[in-house]
Amino acid sequence: MQHIVLASRPDGAPVAENFRLEQVAMPTPADGEVLVKVHYMSLDPYMRGRMDDAKSYAAPVPVGGPMEGGAVGQVIASKSSAFEPGDFAFGMFGWASHGVLPANQLQKLDPKMGPITAALGVMGMPGFTGWHGLNAYGRPKAGETLVVAAATGPVGSMVGQLAKHAGLRVVGIAGGAEKCALAVETFGFDACLDHRAYDTARDLRVALKDACPDGIDIYFENVGGKVLEAIMPLMNPFGRIPICGMISWYNAGGLGADATDGVMPAPAIWRNILVKYLSVNGFIISNHFDRYPEFLKEVGPMVAKGEVRFLEDIAEGLENAPAAFMSMLTGGNTGKQIVKLV
Ligand code: NDP
Repeated sequence: MQHIVLASRPDGAPVAENFRLEQVAMPTPADGEVLVKVHYMSLDPYMRGRMDDAKSYAAPVPVGGPMEGGAVGQVIASKSSAFEPGDFAFGMFGWASHGVLPANQLQKLDPKMGPITAALGVMGMPGFTGWHGLNAYGRPKAGETLVVAAATGPVGSMVGQLAKHAGLRVVGIAGGAEKCALAVETFGFDACLDHRAYDTARDLRVALKDACPDGIDIYFENVGGKVLEAIMPLMNPFGRIPICGMISWYNAGGLGADATDGVMPAPAIWRNILVKYLSVNGFIISNHFDRYPEFLKEVGPMVAKGEVRFLEDIAEGLENAPAAFMSMLTGGNTGKQIVKLV
């Protein structure tokens, strides 16, 4: 079997040399374990954080260790009564062609219910993140205005579509005219702004003001940087900001080194939170999986009926995972980034 290891830690944006494809022995399942051949693996922004040796909510991947991640595939050997060869399952197999996990760490998938790739995006961790973050911390109310960036990705598109269903005005922010058109035409957003079309936070703010004539009640934070700086002065009193991610800063070690135009320094951001009584909630989805069945029950039928739509961007071949990952971090993906292995 093959897997990809972290060859070295990145200094800024990851480069190809930070990854290494290795041939390793095929694992054999022990009692209670299952061997799976991976068909599709997920690439997610959180994996960038795992590449740094910094204190965080999860331990870093050790140099020389396999890159972590979720994947879906087919059981080829089982020493558990819960799975038999031919079954499909989701598990944290990492960036690898095969993996062995205890049966109780696998989620069985029914391919008759839809494409198994959905377990990596719309019905998996990212879709669940959007649903939980919006409902638990965004607390949407009909008639309000919500803004979300990375609008066509699996988190942003879930947030925007659910907010539309709840009767909100939804404004997306995405990279490029094509993604903005998708946000409006495929996902039903009311408007979408191309963050690349504005040089400064001030310019983006002027456009946002037009798109959000009643101000912003919920800013679902995925990106930080220029977008955050543009948004803050437009927040309405008692607004909510679920902090889900801040991808524009991931390659800067989370320090905000690319927030260059200085329009919203930290004191100004704090002042906005104070004087507008904002609720700002960070959350890490791995702490909330007790609510995953509730999400599946509520959103599964919406996906089946086409009320919640999704896009997938499928790269081919394990060896191309690093390039697809690096590209995703800067917006090269359109929809959930997946790698097809077989
Ligand atoms: P996406 O598939 O949306 O991919 C990331 C997107 O981020 C890119 O496509 C790009 O979209 C956007 N982006 C990258 N750089 C910038 C930038 N400088 N400014 C603005 N946008 C940028 O990812 P996901 O939907 O999987 O994740 C979205 C966010 O949610 C991430 O921040 C991620 O870390 C976070 N997350 C947090 C979780 C939690 O537990 N808190 C769990 C899962 C995800 P575009 O080209 O449109 O700008």
